[in-house]
Amino acid sequence: MDLLIKQVRINDGEPLQDVAITDGKITEIAPTIAGTATETIEGNGRVLIPGLVESHIHLDKALIADREPNKSGTLKEAIEVTAKLKPTFTEEDIYTRAKKALEMIISHGATAVRTHAEFDPAQGFTGFNTIMRLKEEYKEFIDMQVVAFPQEGIFKAPGTEKMIYEAMEMGADVVGGIPYNDAPANEHIDLIFEIAKKYDKDIDLHQDFADEADNTSIEYLCEKTIKEGYQGRVSVGHLTALHAMEPERLEKVIASMAEAKINVMPLPATDLHLGARNDSFNVRRAVTPIRKLRDAGVNVALATNNIRNAFTPYGNGDLIQIAMLAVPVGHLGGSDDLPTVLPMITENPAKALGLKDYGLAVGKNADLVLLDTTSIATALIDFPERAYVIKNGRVTVKVEKTVTIMK
Ligand SMILES: [Zn+2]
Repeated sequence: MDLLIKQVRINDGEPLQDVAITDGKITEIAPTIAGTATETIEGNGRVLIPGLVESHIHLDKALIADREPNKSGTLKEAIEVTAKLKPTFTEEDIYTRAKKALEMIISHGATAVRTHAEFDPAQGFTGFNTIMRLKEEYKEFIDMQVVAFPQEGIFKAPGTEKMIYEAMEMGADVVGGIPYNDAPANEHIDLIFEIAKKYDKDIDLHQDFADEADNTSIEYLCEKTIKEGYQGRVSVGHLTALHAMEPERLEKVIASMAEAKINVMPLPATDLHLGARNDSFNVRRAVTPIRKLRDAGVNVALATNNIRNAFTPYGNGDLIQIAMLAVPVGHLGGSDDLPTVLPMITENPAKALGLKDYGLAVGKNADLVLLDTTSIATALIDFPERAYVIKNGRVTVKVEKTVTIMK
């Protein structure tokens, strides 16, 4: 054995387990495992979970909130402020910030990440290339999927279409898109499918981002996904328009999404900050209806989106913080609901990203997090330290914290 993790909690109400790891894989899980290992971790009854999966983040525009504030807090000003700053981004600047943001998510237990890397004719591929470089540099710590992301639209930014093909040739893992910021949205979606099929890659769209139920193309996306046989391979971020949709239409949309097996990434940190800014009273939450989607069998994965920029002026790269934000916002704190939230930052995003050999079971990759808490049921609300993060069977992060009340 390379690594033996002793006496950890895998399921509440069951005996503690030892977990053996060899050559980056989990080789045995049993109440007692005999034998010696190169390294041993004493679990002491703490909770072991599979690695956290960050399914939607923008590393390339992280950590710029101090440069130019978004004073109104609106999506419109966030886009304006960021567009103003983008020409000042050098490769070195993007590298330094993206690396810091990446280390923030790694230190909080992420072992896989999908990041949107943007490009447009004015900026070229500086950001995209920098993210591809970090993917290689950090491969021992985290599996990174890079989404080729045309943030400024495709038709409204001529030259972008060609760049998406170039990004795919340069090794992008996923085809990104932004139907809400382009017109016609349906043709934008058609083009994304054409590219995705050519390269046999999954699709990840910034689907819609509005306070109202207009300007959404989700119904068309569901039809198209089924028509193209892409069920399970399409993910959508934000999807806030569903929050404002009248029940009869919403029910049909969610049923179509379940049929098309569309993965949804609610982004509560951003959506709560930018959403409903024109509501002067009874201010809406403006986050996609997580419970309804979950109850209809739609795969829901909670994600960060941005860390400290005009879209989200806070964040530490901690998915547990995001999950804890989603709990009250999505009315997910009930005894039947809370156990469904932790999978929204582990198994569900792993499924959305199509991760192979993910999970806490024999034969799976040893991508694990030991939480400094002893109960699965309260693992989220305890807001535990990530005592150990393990990637491919190797300890990549260790956190020790001692609190003493000085009586
Ligand atoms: Zn995003």
